[in-house]
Amino acid sequence: MTSTVPQSGTVEQAEVGRRADAFVAELSEWLRIPSISADPGHHGDVGRSAAWLEETLRRDGWPTVEVWGRASGATGEGDDTPALPAVFAHWPAADPAAPTVLVYGHHDVQPADLEDGWSFAPFEPQVVGEELRGRGASDDKGHIAMVLLGVRAHLAATGAGAPAVSLKLLVEGEEESGSAHLADLLAAHGDALACDEIVVTDTGMVDRDTPTVCTGMRGMVEAEVVFRGASVDLHSGQFGGAVPNPVTELATLVAAFHDDAGRVAVPGFYDDVREPTAREREAWAALPFDEPAWLAGSAAGATATAGEDGWSTYERLWARPTAEVNGLHGGYAGPGHKTIVPHVATLKMTFRLVADQDPARIKALVERFVADRVPAGIDAEISTGGPGVPPLICDLDSALVASIREAMGIALGAEVLPAREGGSGPEALLSTALGAPLAFLGVMLPDDRIHAPDERAVLPLLLRGAEAVAHLWRLLGERATSEKARS
Ligand SMILES: [Zn+2]
Repeated sequence: MTSTVPQSGTVEQAEVGRRADAFVAELSEWLRIPSISADPGHHGDVGRSAAWLEETLRRDGWPTVEVWGRASGATGEGDDTPALPAVFAHWPAADPAAPTVLVYGHHDVQPADLEDGWSFAPFEPQVVGEELRGRGASDDKGHIAMVLLGVRAHLAATGAGAPAVSLKLLVEGEEESGSAHLADLLAAHGDALACDEIVVTDTGMVDRDTPTVCTGMRGMVEAEVVFRGASVDLHSGQFGGAVPNPVTELATLVAAFHDDAGRVAVPGFYDDVREPTAREREAWAALPFDEPAWLAGSAAGATATAGEDGWSTYERLWARPTAEVNGLHGGYAGPGHKTIVPHVATLKMTFRLVADQDPARIKALVERFVADRVPAGIDAEISTGGPGVPPLICDLDSALVASIREAMGIALGAEVLPAREGGSGPEALLSTALGAPLAFLGVMLPDDRIHAPDERAVLPLLLRGAEAVAHLWRLLGERATSEKARS
Protein backbone atom coordinates (compact mmCIF):
# COMPACT_ATOMS: atom_id res chain seq x y z
CA MET A 1 0.00 0.00 0.00
CA THR A 2 1.52 3.37 -0.95
CA SER A 3 1.15 6.17 1.50
CA THR A 4 1.56 9.94 1.44
CA VAL A 5 1.31 10.00 5.22
CA PRO A 6 4.77 10.45 6.74
CA GLN A 7 6.43 7.47 8.39
CA SER A 8 7.78 7.90 11.90
CA GLY A 9 10.36 5.14 11.74
CA THR A 10 9.45 3.96 15.24
CA VAL A 11 9.22 0.35 16.42
CA GLU A 12 5.48 0.88 16.87
CA GLN A 13 5.20 1.98 13.26
CA ALA A 14 7.03 -1.15 12.09
CA GLU A 15 4.80 -3.38 14.23
CA VAL A 16 1.68 -1.74 12.82
CA GLY A 17 3.04 -2.08 9.30
CA ARG A 18 3.71 -5.81 9.72
CA ARG A 19 0.08 -6.28 10.64
CA ALA A 20 -1.47 -4.01 8.00
CA ASP A 21 -2.72 -6.69 5.60
CA ALA A 22 -4.17 -8.83 8.38
CA PHE A 23 -5.81 -5.69 9.80
CA VAL A 24 -7.60 -4.95 6.53
CA ALA A 25 -8.78 -8.55 6.19
CA GLU A 26 -10.00 -8.64 9.77
CA LEU A 27 -11.81 -5.29 9.63
CA SER A 28 -13.42 -6.26 6.32
CA GLU A 29 -14.84 -9.37 7.97
CA TRP A 30 -16.39 -7.25 10.72
CA LEU A 31 -17.80 -4.76 8.20
CA ARG A 32 -19.72 -7.58 6.52
CA ILE A 33 -21.97 -7.81 9.60
CA PRO A 34 -24.75 -5.20 9.14
CA SER A 35 -25.00 -4.18 12.82
CA ILE A 36 -27.68 -1.51 12.31
CA SER A 37 -29.03 -0.61 15.73
CA ALA A 38 -31.88 1.53 14.36
CA ASP A 39 -33.48 -1.44 12.59
CA PRO A 40 -35.01 -4.19 14.78
CA GLY A 41 -34.62 -6.49 11.77
CA HIS A 42 -30.84 -6.17 12.21
CA HIS A 43 -30.65 -6.53 15.98
CA GLY A 44 -29.48 -10.11 15.53
CA ASP A 45 -26.60 -8.69 13.49
CA VAL A 46 -25.73 -6.30 16.31
CA GLY A 47 -25.43 -9.45 18.46
CA ARG A 48 -23.25 -11.15 15.82
CA SER A 49 -21.07 -8.06 15.62
CA ALA A 50 -20.59 -8.10 19.42
CA ALA A 51 -19.76 -11.82 19.28
CA TRP A 52 -17.23 -11.15 16.52
CA LEU A 53 -15.54 -8.51 18.66
CA GLU A 54 -15.64 -10.72 21.75
CA GLU A 55 -13.89 -13.53 19.88
CA THR A 56 -11.29 -11.17 18.40
CA LEU A 57 -10.45 -9.70 21.81
CA ARG A 58 -10.09 -13.18 23.31
CA ARG A 59 -7.79 -14.19 20.46
CA ASP A 60 -5.70 -11.06 21.15
CA GLY A 61 -5.28 -12.21 24.74
CA TRP A 62 -7.47 -9.75 26.66
CA PRO A 63 -7.88 -11.52 30.02
CA THR A 64 -11.44 -10.28 30.61
CA VAL A 65 -13.99 -10.06 27.81
CA GLU A 66 -17.72 -9.76 28.47
CA VAL A 67 -20.81 -9.02 26.42
CA TRP A 68 -23.36 -6.92 28.27
CA GLY A 69 -27.01 -6.31 27.48
CA ARG A 70 -29.53 -8.16 25.41
CA ALA A 71 -28.83 -11.81 24.65
CA SER A 72 -27.40 -12.18 21.18
CA GLY A 73 -30.18 -12.43 18.62
CA ALA A 74 -32.98 -11.31 20.94
CA THR A 75 -35.11 -8.48 19.59
CA GLY A 76 -37.28 -5.97 21.33
CA GLU A 77 -38.05 -2.32 21.76
CA GLY A 78 -38.97 -0.01 24.57
CA ASP A 79 -37.33 1.28 27.71
CA ASP A 80 -37.50 -1.93 29.71
CA THR A 81 -35.71 -4.00 27.04
CA PRO A 82 -32.04 -4.45 27.89
CA ALA A 83 -29.43 -2.64 25.82
CA LEU A 84 -28.27 -4.06 22.50
CA PRO A 85 -25.05 -5.98 23.20
CA ALA A 86 -22.09 -3.89 24.32
CA VAL A 87 -18.62 -5.41 24.63
CA PHE A 88 -16.44 -4.84 27.67
CA ALA A 89 -12.81 -5.92 28.00
CA HIS A 90 -10.08 -5.38 30.55
CA TRP A 91 -6.33 -5.89 30.30
CA PRO A 92 -4.59 -4.90 33.55
CA ALA A 93 -1.06 -3.52 33.47
CA ALA A 94 1.65 -5.56 35.18
CA ASP A 95 2.07 -2.71 37.68
CA PRO A 96 -1.09 -2.53 39.80
CA ALA A 97 -0.36 1.14 40.47
CA ALA A 98 -0.52 2.01 36.76
CA PRO A 99 -3.45 4.24 35.77
CA THR A 100 -6.53 2.75 34.14
CA VAL A 101 -7.64 4.12 30.77
CA LEU A 102 -11.07 3.29 29.37
CA VAL A 103 -11.50 3.42 25.60
CA TYR A 104 -15.03 4.07 24.40
CA GLY A 105 -16.43 3.48 20.91
CA HIS A 106 -19.33 1.69 19.23
CA HIS A 107 -19.83 -1.29 16.95
CA ASP A 108 -23.33 -0.50 15.69
CA VAL A 109 -23.63 1.37 12.40
CA GLN A 110 -26.01 3.74 10.65
CA PRO A 111 -28.56 2.19 8.28
CA ALA A 112 -27.32 1.71 4.72
CA ASP A 113 -29.16 0.65 1.55
CA LEU A 114 -27.95 0.57 -2.04
CA GLU A 115 -31.05 2.61 -2.95
CA ASP A 116 -29.86 5.47 -0.74
CA GLY A 117 -27.35 6.25 -3.45
CA TRP A 118 -24.45 3.94 -2.63
CA SER A 119 -22.18 3.18 -5.57
CA PHE A 120 -21.24 -0.20 -4.02
CA ALA A 121 -22.91 -2.69 -1.69
CA PRO A 122 -22.55 -1.11 1.80
CA PHE A 123 -21.88 -4.41 3.57
CA GLU A 124 -19.51 -5.88 0.97
CA PRO A 125 -16.34 -3.99 1.91
CA GLN A 126 -13.68 -3.44 -0.71
CA VAL A 127 -10.25 -1.86 -0.87
CA VAL A 128 -9.88 0.70 -3.64
CA GLY A 129 -6.48 2.37 -3.70
CA GLU A 130 -5.85 3.67 -0.19
CA GLU A 131 -9.52 3.46 0.81
CA LEU A 132 -11.42 0.77 2.62
CA ARG A 133 -15.04 1.24 1.54
CA GLY A 134 -18.09 0.05 3.43
CA ARG A 135 -20.55 1.06 6.14
CA GLY A 136 -18.66 1.30 9.44
CA ALA A 137 -15.20 1.48 7.79
CA SER A 138 -14.66 4.78 9.56
CA ASP A 139 -17.58 5.16 12.03
CA ASP A 140 -16.79 3.36 14.21
CA LYS A 141 -15.65 -0.21 13.54
CA GLY A 142 -12.59 1.09 11.70
CA HIS A 143 -11.64 3.09 14.77
CA ILE A 144 -12.20 0.24 17.22
CA ALA A 145 -10.12 -2.05 15.00
CA MET A 146 -7.50 0.71 14.98
CA VAL A 147 -7.37 0.62 18.79
CA LEU A 148 -7.04 -3.19 18.83
CA LEU A 149 -4.18 -2.95 16.33
CA GLY A 150 -2.59 -0.22 18.45
CA VAL A 151 -2.67 -2.49 21.51
CA ARG A 152 -1.06 -5.34 19.56
CA ALA A 153 1.66 -3.04 18.25
CA HIS A 154 2.26 -1.64 21.73
CA LEU A 155 2.71 -5.11 23.22
CA ALA A 156 4.95 -6.22 20.37
CA ALA A 157 7.04 -3.04 20.56
CA THR A 158 7.59 -3.31 24.31
CA GLY A 159 7.87 -7.10 24.34
CA ALA A 160 5.73 -7.05 27.49
CA GLY A 161 2.91 -9.44 28.31
CA ALA A 162 0.65 -6.63 29.49
CA PRO A 163 0.07 -3.00 28.44
CA ALA A 164 1.92 -0.13 30.14
CA VAL A 165 -1.38 1.15 31.56
CA SER A 166 -4.43 -0.88 32.54
CA LEU A 167 -6.74 -0.84 29.55
CA LYS A 168 -10.50 -1.12 29.54
CA LEU A 169 -12.69 -1.14 26.48
CA LEU A 170 -16.39 -0.30 26.25
CA VAL A 171 -17.79 -0.78 22.77
CA GLU A 172 -21.45 0.17 22.71
CA GLY A 173 -24.08 -1.41 20.46
CA GLU A 174 -26.59 1.43 20.16
CA GLU A 175 -24.67 4.69 19.85
CA GLU A 176 -26.16 5.36 16.44
CA SER A 177 -29.61 5.08 18.02
CA GLY A 178 -28.94 7.65 20.72
CA SER A 179 -27.28 5.45 23.40
CA ALA A 180 -30.66 5.00 25.10
CA HIS A 181 -29.37 2.44 27.60
CA LEU A 182 -25.85 3.74 28.14
CA ALA A 183 -26.70 5.44 31.44
CA ASP A 184 -28.14 2.13 32.68
CA LEU A 185 -25.03 0.23 31.56
CA LEU A 186 -22.75 2.73 33.27
CA ALA A 187 -24.77 2.50 36.48
CA ALA A 188 -25.01 -1.29 36.44
CA HIS A 189 -21.30 -1.81 35.69
CA GLY A 190 -19.76 1.16 37.48
CA ASP A 191 -17.18 -1.01 39.28
CA ALA A 192 -16.00 -2.81 36.17
CA LEU A 193 -15.76 0.49 34.27
CA ALA A 194 -13.95 2.43 37.01
CA CYS A 195 -11.06 4.31 35.40
CA ASP A 196 -8.75 7.29 35.73
CA GLU A 197 -9.12 8.58 32.19
CA ILE A 198 -11.38 8.04 29.19
CA VAL A 199 -10.33 8.07 25.54
CA VAL A 200 -13.13 8.26 22.97
CA THR A 201 -12.26 7.02 19.53
CA ASP A 202 -15.19 8.25 17.44
CA THR A 203 -13.96 11.57 16.05
CA GLY A 204 -11.55 12.86 13.46
CA MET A 205 -9.33 15.53 12.03
CA VAL A 206 -10.21 18.61 9.99
CA ASP A 207 -8.43 17.26 6.93
CA ARG A 208 -5.92 14.67 5.86
CA ASP A 209 -2.90 16.96 5.85
CA THR A 210 -3.75 18.78 9.08
CA PRO A 211 -3.52 16.54 12.14
CA THR A 212 -5.96 17.78 14.76
CA VAL A 213 -7.38 16.40 17.95
CA CYS A 214 -11.00 16.91 18.91
CA THR A 215 -11.28 18.72 22.23
CA GLY A 216 -15.00 19.28 22.49
CA MET A 217 -18.44 18.31 21.26
CA ARG A 218 -21.67 20.27 21.41
CA GLY A 219 -24.68 19.18 23.44
CA MET A 220 -28.25 19.16 22.24
CA VAL A 221 -31.85 19.62 23.28
CA GLU A 222 -34.87 19.19 21.07
CA ALA A 223 -38.25 20.88 20.99
CA GLU A 224 -41.52 20.29 19.22
CA VAL A 225 -44.18 22.98 19.10
CA VAL A 226 -47.74 22.51 17.84
CA PHE A 227 -50.02 25.51 17.25
CA ARG A 228 -53.74 24.74 16.86
CA GLY A 229 -56.56 27.04 15.85
CA ALA A 230 -60.00 25.71 14.88
CA SER A 231 -60.78 21.99 15.11
CA VAL A 232 -60.65 21.59 11.29
CA ASP A 233 -59.27 23.56 8.32
CA LEU A 234 -61.54 26.53 7.53
CA HIS A 235 -62.54 28.19 4.22
CA SER A 236 -60.05 31.00 3.57
CA GLY A 237 -62.78 33.21 2.06
CA GLN A 238 -65.39 32.70 4.75
CA PHE A 239 -62.93 32.87 7.69
CA GLY A 240 -59.56 34.16 6.42
CA GLY A 241 -58.59 37.49 7.96
CA ALA A 242 -61.01 37.02 10.85
CA VAL A 243 -59.47 34.10 12.78
CA PRO A 244 -55.84 33.38 13.70
CA ASN A 245 -53.86 31.32 11.19
CA PRO A 246 -51.69 28.79 13.10
CA VAL A 247 -49.13 28.63 10.27
CA THR A 248 -48.68 32.41 10.20
CA GLU A 249 -48.47 32.53 13.99
CA LEU A 250 -45.95 29.70 14.13
CA ALA A 251 -43.85 31.35 11.40
CA THR A 252 -43.83 34.51 13.51
CA LEU A 253 -42.56 32.48 16.45
CA VAL A 254 -39.85 30.87 14.29
CA ALA A 255 -38.71 34.28 13.07
CA ALA A 256 -38.44 35.47 16.68
CA PHE A 257 -35.82 32.86 17.57
CA HIS A 258 -32.98 34.87 15.99
CA ASP A 259 -32.06 38.55 16.04
CA ASP A 260 -30.60 40.48 13.10
CA ALA A 261 -27.06 39.51 14.11
CA GLY A 262 -27.88 35.82 13.89
CA ARG A 263 -27.90 35.38 17.65
CA VAL A 264 -30.46 33.22 19.39
CA ALA A 265 -32.98 35.62 20.89
CA VAL A 266 -34.16 33.42 23.76
CA PRO A 267 -33.51 35.49 26.91
CA GLY A 268 -30.75 33.97 29.02
CA PHE A 269 -29.66 31.58 26.24
CA TYR A 270 -26.03 32.74 26.30
CA ASP A 271 -25.72 33.25 30.07
CA ASP A 272 -23.60 30.14 30.68
CA VAL A 273 -21.70 30.01 27.39
CA ARG A 274 -17.98 29.60 27.95
CA GLU A 275 -16.20 31.45 25.18
CA PRO A 276 -13.25 29.76 23.51
CA THR A 277 -9.90 30.99 24.79
CA ALA A 278 -7.79 33.35 22.71
CA ARG A 279 -5.31 30.49 22.31
CA GLU A 280 -8.00 28.21 20.87
CA ARG A 281 -9.31 30.90 18.52
CA GLU A 282 -5.76 31.47 17.29
CA ALA A 283 -5.22 27.75 16.73
CA TRP A 284 -8.51 27.46 14.84
CA ALA A 285 -7.69 30.50 12.73
CA ALA A 286 -4.44 28.77 11.75
CA LEU A 287 -6.30 25.69 10.46
CA PRO A 288 -6.67 25.65 6.71
CA PHE A 289 -10.25 26.27 5.63
CA ASP A 290 -11.18 26.46 1.97
CA GLU A 291 -14.66 27.93 2.19
CA PRO A 292 -15.72 27.49 -1.47
CA ALA A 293 -14.50 23.87 -1.40
CA TRP A 294 -16.24 23.26 1.93
CA LEU A 295 -19.50 24.71 0.63
CA ALA A 296 -19.35 22.75 -2.61
CA GLY A 297 -18.17 19.51 -0.99
CA SER A 298 -19.01 18.85 2.67
CA ALA A 299 -21.94 21.30 2.60
CA ALA A 300 -23.31 19.63 -0.55
CA GLY A 301 -23.55 22.65 -2.79
CA ALA A 302 -24.65 25.31 -0.31
CA THR A 303 -23.65 28.64 -1.83
CA ALA A 304 -22.95 30.86 1.20
CA THR A 305 -22.14 30.53 4.88
CA ALA A 306 -24.48 32.08 7.43
CA GLY A 307 -24.71 32.35 11.19
CA GLU A 308 -23.88 34.48 14.18
CA ASP A 309 -22.01 37.68 13.32
CA GLY A 310 -18.43 37.96 14.49
CA TRP A 311 -17.47 34.30 14.40
CA SER A 312 -15.68 32.18 11.81
CA THR A 313 -17.26 29.05 10.37
CA TYR A 314 -15.21 26.78 12.64
CA GLU A 315 -16.15 28.92 15.65
CA ARG A 316 -19.84 28.85 14.69
CA LEU A 317 -19.69 25.06 14.43
CA TRP A 318 -17.56 24.31 17.47
CA ALA A 319 -17.99 27.03 20.04
CA ARG A 320 -21.34 28.72 19.49
CA PRO A 321 -24.80 27.38 20.38
CA THR A 322 -27.59 27.27 17.84
CA ALA A 323 -31.36 27.18 17.44
CA GLU A 324 -32.00 25.15 14.31
CA VAL A 325 -35.40 24.64 12.66
CA ASN A 326 -35.49 21.03 11.53
CA GLY A 327 -39.03 21.09 10.19
CA LEU A 328 -41.97 23.46 9.86
CA HIS A 329 -45.21 22.01 8.62
CA GLY A 330 -48.77 23.18 8.17
CA GLY A 331 -51.53 23.54 5.65
CA TYR A 332 -51.66 22.42 2.07
CA ALA A 333 -48.60 21.83 -0.12
CA GLY A 334 -50.10 19.52 -2.78
CA PRO A 335 -50.74 20.28 -6.45
CA GLY A 336 -52.72 23.41 -7.28
CA HIS A 337 -54.28 25.39 -4.45
CA LYS A 338 -56.53 24.65 -1.53
CA THR A 339 -58.17 27.75 -0.12
CA ILE A 340 -58.00 27.10 3.61
CA VAL A 341 -57.03 28.54 6.94
CA PRO A 342 -55.06 25.54 8.24
CA HIS A 343 -56.08 24.40 11.69
CA VAL A 344 -52.68 23.16 12.83
CA ALA A 345 -48.98 23.86 12.34
CA THR A 346 -45.99 21.96 13.68
CA LEU A 347 -42.41 22.99 14.37
CA LYS A 348 -39.44 20.79 15.18
CA MET A 349 -36.21 22.33 16.41
CA THR A 350 -32.90 21.25 17.88
CA PHE A 351 -30.59 23.44 19.89
CA ARG A 352 -26.87 22.67 19.86
CA LEU A 353 -25.30 23.63 23.16
CA VAL A 354 -21.76 24.48 24.14
CA ALA A 355 -19.97 24.42 27.46
CA ASP A 356 -21.30 25.32 30.05
CA GLN A 357 -24.94 25.41 28.95
CA ASP A 358 -27.17 23.05 30.91
CA PRO A 359 -29.77 21.16 28.82
CA ALA A 360 -32.42 21.38 31.57
CA ARG A 361 -32.01 25.15 31.89
CA ILE A 362 -32.08 25.70 28.12
CA LYS A 363 -35.28 23.64 27.88
CA ALA A 364 -36.92 25.77 30.54
CA LEU A 365 -35.84 28.97 28.75
CA VAL A 366 -37.17 27.73 25.41
CA GLU A 367 -40.46 26.63 26.97
CA ARG A 368 -40.91 30.07 28.54
CA PHE A 369 -39.94 31.81 25.27
CA VAL A 370 -42.66 29.88 23.42
CA ALA A 371 -45.26 30.26 26.16
CA ASP A 372 -44.73 34.05 26.12
CA ARG A 373 -45.46 34.15 22.38
CA VAL A 374 -48.70 32.22 22.03
CA PRO A 375 -51.29 34.59 20.54
CA ALA A 376 -54.95 34.65 21.54
CA GLY A 377 -56.96 31.99 19.75
CA ILE A 378 -54.03 29.58 19.46
CA ASP A 379 -53.67 26.48 21.58
CA ALA A 380 -49.98 25.66 21.99
CA GLU A 381 -48.24 22.46 22.97
CA ILE A 382 -44.51 22.29 23.52
CA SER A 383 -42.51 19.19 24.29
CA THR A 384 -38.78 19.07 24.79
CA GLY A 385 -38.18 15.32 24.74
CA GLY A 386 -35.80 13.49 27.08
CA PRO A 387 -33.01 14.87 29.24
CA GLY A 388 -31.00 16.21 26.28
CA VAL A 389 -27.27 15.83 25.74
CA PRO A 390 -24.86 17.97 27.75
CA PRO A 391 -21.90 19.51 25.90
CA LEU A 392 -18.38 18.31 26.62
CA ILE A 393 -15.15 20.21 26.58
CA CYS A 394 -11.70 18.76 27.28
CA ASP A 395 -9.09 20.41 29.43
CA LEU A 396 -6.53 21.49 26.83
CA ASP A 397 -3.86 21.71 29.52
CA SER A 398 -4.45 18.20 30.84
CA ALA A 399 -1.71 15.60 30.67
CA LEU A 400 -4.09 13.30 28.79
CA VAL A 401 -4.72 15.75 25.94
CA ALA A 402 -0.99 16.57 25.85
CA SER A 403 -0.12 12.84 25.62
CA ILE A 404 -2.64 12.27 22.82
CA ARG A 405 -1.26 15.23 20.87
CA GLU A 406 2.26 13.91 21.38
CA ALA A 407 1.30 10.35 20.35
CA MET A 408 -0.54 11.55 17.23
CA GLY A 409 2.27 13.97 16.47
CA ILE A 410 4.85 11.15 16.41
CA ALA A 411 2.65 8.95 14.23
CA LEU A 412 1.56 11.69 11.81
CA GLY A 413 4.82 13.61 11.72
CA ALA A 414 3.35 17.04 12.40
CA GLU A 415 2.16 19.22 15.23
CA VAL A 416 -1.37 18.23 16.26
CA LEU A 417 -3.62 21.27 16.63
CA PRO A 418 -6.73 21.42 18.81
CA ALA A 419 -10.08 21.43 17.04
CA ARG A 420 -13.61 20.53 18.06
CA GLU A 421 -16.63 18.89 16.49
CA GLY A 422 -20.08 20.34 16.13
CA GLY A 423 -22.00 17.13 16.75
CA SER A 424 -23.17 15.55 19.97
CA GLY A 425 -22.45 12.23 21.63
CA PRO A 426 -22.56 10.48 24.98
CA GLU A 427 -19.17 11.85 26.11
CA ALA A 428 -20.42 14.11 28.90
CA LEU A 429 -22.53 11.23 30.21
CA LEU A 430 -19.48 8.93 30.24
CA SER A 431 -17.24 11.46 31.89
CA THR A 432 -19.80 12.39 34.56
CA ALA A 433 -20.96 8.84 35.32
CA LEU A 434 -17.42 7.50 35.62
CA GLY A 435 -16.01 10.62 37.25
CA ALA A 436 -13.02 10.70 34.92
CA PRO A 437 -11.64 13.25 32.46
CA LEU A 438 -12.14 12.47 28.80
CA ALA A 439 -10.26 13.13 25.58
CA PHE A 440 -10.51 12.06 21.95
CA LEU A 441 -8.26 10.18 19.57
CA GLY A 442 -9.58 9.63 16.06
CA VAL A 443 -8.57 10.02 12.43
CA MET A 444 -11.93 10.28 10.66
CA LEU A 445 -12.01 12.80 7.84
CA PRO A 446 -14.90 15.14 6.98
CA ASP A 447 -15.19 13.40 3.61
CA ASP A 448 -15.30 9.86 5.06
CA ARG A 449 -19.06 10.14 4.39
CA ILE A 450 -20.00 8.69 7.76
CA HIS A 451 -23.80 8.37 8.12
CA ALA A 452 -23.99 8.89 4.33
CA PRO A 453 -23.75 6.69 1.23
CA ASP A 454 -20.28 5.47 0.18
CA GLU A 455 -18.65 5.55 3.63
CA ARG A 456 -14.92 4.89 3.50
CA ALA A 457 -11.80 5.08 5.64
CA VAL A 458 -8.35 6.12 4.49
CA LEU A 459 -6.24 3.07 5.37
CA PRO A 460 -2.86 4.80 5.81
CA LEU A 461 -4.55 7.13 8.30
CA LEU A 462 -6.13 4.26 10.26
CA LEU A 463 -2.68 2.65 10.44
CA ARG A 464 -1.09 5.90 11.66
CA GLY A 465 -3.96 6.14 14.15
CA ALA A 466 -3.11 2.64 15.40
CA GLU A 467 0.50 3.71 15.76
CA ALA A 468 -0.64 6.76 17.75
CA VAL A 469 -2.64 4.45 20.02
CA ALA A 470 0.48 2.31 20.57
CA HIS A 471 2.56 5.40 21.41
CA LEU A 472 -0.17 6.66 23.73
CA TRP A 473 -0.10 3.63 26.04
CA ARG A 474 3.69 3.89 26.23
CA LEU A 475 3.59 7.65 26.93
CA LEU A 476 0.89 7.30 29.60
CA GLY A 477 2.90 4.51 31.24
CA GLU A 478 6.05 6.65 31.20
CA ARG A 479 4.14 9.59 32.64
CA ALA A 480 2.82 7.47 35.50
CA THR A 481 6.31 6.11 36.23
CA SER A 482 7.86 9.57 36.33
CA GLU A 483 5.02 10.88 38.52
CA LYS A 484 5.61 8.00 40.92
CA ALA A 485 9.37 8.70 40.99
CA ARG A 486 8.69 12.35 41.79
CA SER A 487 6.29 11.68 44.67
ZN1 LIG B 1 -19.67 7.10 15.64
